[in-house]
Amino acid sequence: MDELINDGARLIRESHAILVFTGAGMSTESGIPDFRSPGGLWDRYDPSDFYYQKIISDEKSREKYWIMSREAYGVMKDAEPNRGHLAIKRLEDKGKLLAIVTQNIDGLHHKAGNSSEKIVEIHGTSRTVSCLSCGKKYDRGDIESRLESGVKVPYCDDCEGILKPDTISFGQAMPQDKMAESIRFAAGCDLCMVLGSSLVVYPAASVPVHASDSGAPLMIINRDETPLDGRAQLVIHDAIGKTLDRMMGLI
Ligand SMILES: [Zn+2]
Repeated sequence: MDELINDGARLIRESHAILVFTGAGMSTESGIPDFRSPGGLWDRYDPSDFYYQKIISDEKSREKYWIMSREAYGVMKDAEPNRGHLAIKRLEDKGKLLAIVTQNIDGLHHKAGNSSEKIVEIHGTSRTVSCLSCGKKYDRGDIESRLESGVKVPYCDDCEGILKPDTISFGQAMPQDKMAESIRFAAGCDLCMVLGSSLVVYPAASVPVHASDSGAPLMIINRDETPLDGRAQLVIHDAIGKTLDRMMGLI
């Protein structure tokens, strides 16, 4: 293991434009369970109930959606960044961070202090809610207060349009601009660090693929194997926080 840590530290030392790609495993050490894991959210709720088309077409589906969404948001709202997030903040402080592309919707990279312009949330964010008709944005906390006060399905103050958290739902297209931005970062990085992503969700996983195709070395830190392990210069199957801590200690 020491050798792997040394190899990782060397890759970071030699790099000046690192693209960090993060998935659910990044936030489990902050107490946010992987919703796709056994016993997770998608074990208890049927994802097919929450297809975008259903949410926008049916009031009952929206009511169910908000029950599920509140449970998810409940575990995210008070979560704090962990050692892994803080290590990525240190990469930015050292001028080595090109960008963070994250599959996570928990906002923990923002909370860790990374600059907003360096963070691309390709699956959106749970921290804001938008009106699907007029685009008006709401703070998630304000909408939570309404739900707590007994409102089952909130609507827009201005136009009575449907409100939805700014996360990408099943059946909803990925935002083209965020994907394009991510691919640009992938093309311009000189190291791609994949942290806590199983790399099975597309098109998100195409971002590290593109970085590798563009010639950047890949470093993968994830509990389990990933389909890209064979292409990576360095693979560590271990916890992210302690692994990055040790690596950063050698930078
Ligand atoms: Zn509206």
